Amino acid sequence: MFQFSYKLKVAERVKAKCQRHPRYNPERDGRGGIKGGCSTCFSLFDLHQARLSLDAAHREFLRRATPWSHVRRPRNRTNSQRQKDPPFGSQPL
Ligand SMILES: [Zn+2]
Repeated sequence: MFQFSYKLKVAERVKAKCQRHPRYNPERDGRGGIKGGCSTCFSLFDLHQARLSLDAAHREFLRRATPWSHVRRPRNRTNSQRQKDPPFGSQPL
C-alpha cells in the first residue's frame, strides 16, 4: 500500500512598489500598464502572476485533497477528562 502525507503551509507577506512608477499596480494595470519596459514593474507583474499561480495551485491541492483528508483535532488537555467507567461494584442495581 502506498501512503503519503502532505502538509501545506504558506505564509508570506510582500509589499513591493516600483520606485520610478509608484502608481503601477500589476493587478489593475496588467502587463500593458508597464511604462518604458521598466524591469522593476516587470518583476512586480511576474510576482503577481506567481501569486495567481500559487492561489490556483492551492485551490487545486485543496480540491484534490479534501476527499482524502481528515481533520486532526488539536490535542487538548480538557479532552482527557473523558468519563471513566465507574469503579467496579459502584453501579446501583
Ligand atoms: Zn517601474
